Amino acid sequence: MLVGGELVAGGAGSYDIVNPATEAVVGQAPEAAVTQVEAAAAAAAEAFPAWSRTRPEERAALLDRAADLLRERMDELIPLVQAETGATLRVAKTMQVPTCIERFRRYARGALEPTTIPLPPSEMPTTALASGGIMGAIAVRQPVGVVACITPYNFPIVNMAGKIGPALAMGNTVVVKPAPQDPLAVTVFGEVLREAGFPPGVVNVVTGSGAEAGQALVSSPHVDMVSFTGSTPVGRAIGEVAGRDMKRLLLELGGKGAGIVFDDADLPTAIATISSVWAFHSGQICTAPTRVIAQRGVYDQVVAGLQQAAGRMKVGDPLAPDTVVGPLISEVQRDRVEALVRAGIEQGGELAAGGTRPELDHGFYVAPTLIVGCKPDNAAVQQEFFGPVVVVVAVDDEDEAVAVANSTEFGLYDYVFSADTARAMRVAKQLRTGNVGINTAQRNHEAPFGGFKMSGVGRDGGSFGLHAYSELQSIVWPG
Ligand code: NDP
Repeated sequence: MLVGGELVAGGAGSYDIVNPATEAVVGQAPEAAVTQVEAAAAAAAEAFPAWSRTRPEERAALLDRAADLLRERMDELIPLVQAETGATLRVAKTMQVPTCIERFRRYARGALEPTTIPLPPSEMPTTALASGGIMGAIAVRQPVGVVACITPYNFPIVNMAGKIGPALAMGNTVVVKPAPQDPLAVTVFGEVLREAGFPPGVVNVVTGSGAEAGQALVSSPHVDMVSFTGSTPVGRAIGEVAGRDMKRLLLELGGKGAGIVFDDADLPTAIATISSVWAFHSGQICTAPTRVIAQRGVYDQVVAGLQQAAGRMKVGDPLAPDTVVGPLISEVQRDRVEALVRAGIEQGGELAAGGTRPELDHGFYVAPTLIVGCKPDNAAVQQEFFGPVVVVVAVDDEDEAVAVANSTEFGLYDYVFSADTARAMRVAKQLRTGNVGINTAQRNHEAPFGGFKMSGVGRDGGSFGLHAYSELQSIVWPG
């Protein structure tokens, strides 16, 4: 762990990290004592005044240096993150590490973005409070202070880089706590940030459970903002604690992406797009279109296409280059996914693919699973799997598609497949969701990313992500 610029062992001991594919122990992670979490937050608070006054160029250079060091350690990081997450080689090589480097580079540039917003002069009348006249004004983006960054297990270093990068660029100091299942690469990350030359206390890394280290961090009086990515129930609990002290919040929470396929859609594209995200990182991705809403005219073709796609996905050893679906993170997560599949079937869904454990000696695998003929209120349609499971619902028309898409508590990422651009745009604007992909699952990292409803509060992404780690201050003068 990295506390106040020192690399330290866990005060509460250490625990085993298990490879989800082999079930073998691949390392030991430090378990932070609550006093160490508090020391990390205090160090961040002490470092804040000086760090917030550093020149933007200096912050940019340090973030770029961290990106360089991460690139140099890629050969070490890829197998490490692969072993602790169970990610396939393709996911580890193309996403887990390179995206993390990209985020540091993006926010090195972010440090140089203007923080002063000129405002038009305003003529003010004389009042009992002050004599009138023309008032000049600017708005200034100020850093918030100490940011606690708490992340889920699916993309440990990518999620972390997406928080640390903009927070530091804006002049905040940070304490990060990764998910307990896979914190090893994040601890290497801590070493990299120390070597990059960030002053002591600017970046701190503590590892351990949410119940101990996570809660201690959220409730620390030194923490001014909590940036959390994870499940909706935990986000709500964090929001309640943070709200008591008016801590600023950025919450990226659960999703249950609708994939609306209209009669006029290019079906091969729709099916290929949905399938590519369905299996991606074994469905442990919050933006996946796991709730397919197909218009009746194409319903049978969509189901048949998805069934064929499931049959083609190779499940197994994440190290094999042709493996598409690796394991879930843990036995607990596998049991949770299987229980929700059973509930979906008990409530009237029909199993069209998967639903069983693949025949493998080890690992927490679930075969790509397709549940069709679901009513919109089926638990499998309403609740998040965070596993390789897609459900299909039939609808008659556009209005019904929108109503079903909007019927869950989530609102993170939906998809519309239609050849009619005007229709796709019209439907997109009626969706109560933070993000919509039209005929694509590709993202644009400059676009704001975040949730409506129970999917979260605030926005990541590009300059929006940078601004999320700032407070707006108005400065007004006569003349
Ligand atoms: P969790 O919400 O279970 O955990 C996330 C992190 O919070 C972990 O580090 C966890 O530690 C910690 N934590 C738990 N309780 C507390 C607490 N009271 N105070 C502080 N920290 C706490 O999520 P998962 O790790 O299971 O990840 C899956 C979830 O993440 C899914 O719901 C998914 O949709 C969501 N997610 C959202 C994304 C988005 O951008 N919207 C992106 C990726 C995932 P511990 O495990 O010990 O409890």
